[in-house]
Amino acid sequence: MENFKKIKVILHRGSNQIGGVCTEIATANTRIFVDFGSPLEGEGDQSRLDIDGLTFGAVGCDGVFLTHYHGDHVGEIPRIMSSIPVYMESTARKILEVQQEHKKSLGQIVWATGVKELIGGEPVIVKDLNVTPIKSDHSACNSLMYLVEGCGKRILITGDYRLHGYYAEELVKTFKNLGKLDLMITEGTTITRDSCYSHDEKWVEQEFAKINKKYKYVFLLTSSSNIGRIAAFSRTIPEGKYMLVDQYQEKLIKIYDADQVERLQSCKVLHTGNNLIKKAEKLGFGMAVRANDHFQRIVKNFFEKYPEKTCLVYSMWSGYKDCPSIKKMLALCPDEENVKIRHASGHVTKEDLEQVIETIKPAKLIIHHTAADKRNIGKLILPGDTELVCAEDGRLIAL
Ligand SMILES: [Zn+2]
Repeated sequence: MENFKKIKVILHRGSNQIGGVCTEIATANTRIFVDFGSPLEGEGDQSRLDIDGLTFGAVGCDGVFLTHYHGDHVGEIPRIMSSIPVYMESTARKILEVQQEHKKSLGQIVWATGVKELIGGEPVIVKDLNVTPIKSDHSACNSLMYLVEGCGKRILITGDYRLHGYYAEELVKTFKNLGKLDLMITEGTTITRDSCYSHDEKWVEQEFAKINKKYKYVFLLTSSSNIGRIAAFSRTIPEGKYMLVDQYQEKLIKIYDADQVERLQSCKVLHTGNNLIKKAEKLGFGMAVRANDHFQRIVKNFFEKYPEKTCLVYSMWSGYKDCPSIKKMLALCPDEENVKIRHASGHVTKEDLEQVIETIKPAKLIIHHTAADKRNIGKLILPGDTELVCAEDGRLIAL
């Protein structure tokens, strides 16, 4: 009878690797999951994750809640049995749908159309669990955290987040007002990363402004899904110059802008399809590019014609520099001087993570989405009353 009132948590994957996360929260008669991601290439366990009641067998799941649209959080969703409802923030879902349509040519199944939409702050009752989506701040826009309440217990699962984005102040306020938590499950991506200092998004935007002023032709190499970053870049294009993207990127930006406060919206973004490149060559431009053949040809052309006036801004995690297509793109720049690295991480720094835990003071703490081992996690400065629970993939934790 004792167990009946308990809430259980199982980290199916992600307890000791970055990405590929999938977390179950359940009571005796309710079972939900938060995220169902694919492992990042070369990072941790790459094997296929099958879960009874979720991907095979009799349906035994009441809902899957997604924190954001990055593949390491949503990549395995197409394998979920079709009668199980999947929830996601409304703008994030629209973005994911456009991304999937774009990838359709590669044979990927488009599944986001069936995903139910959530609004930050509006709770969903799933039998005896109350799930409240909370607006977060990450390099994927409109990301959510979830507060899950049931059996008299309160659990926060953060997804990916940071305190150095544009919504840092709001997020700090959210943490202060959360109230007592029985368990906090947080990401810990940066615990094993060397640099403890992270630039913030405002710094990146200021740097973009300087670069766009100095060079006539500026290419921004970043992820097409980091739409807030591309919007920031567009805001720094000087008067008289063009801001160019391709049609796919334009679609994503339109969805982003429709649900964004004015100061963070994009500015005068045009797509390159209308022969604009000729006009823009005269007046100068900033252009968001990806490392594909189409953009490589454009970048190559401008570096060859205008080596002094052209600049490529690398605005992604440094680890991606080893990807063959990115390497190729960077190799097009004739001079190191014309490649600028301007980036802010999507993940909370170790110091901010300690600060967040100190603010919340959860009774129990699990750190997942991390490559850190027990020794590294043990070095974190934690509040005296917080019990650090060392989770393992597949192990049941009862509250
Ligand atoms: Zn992410």
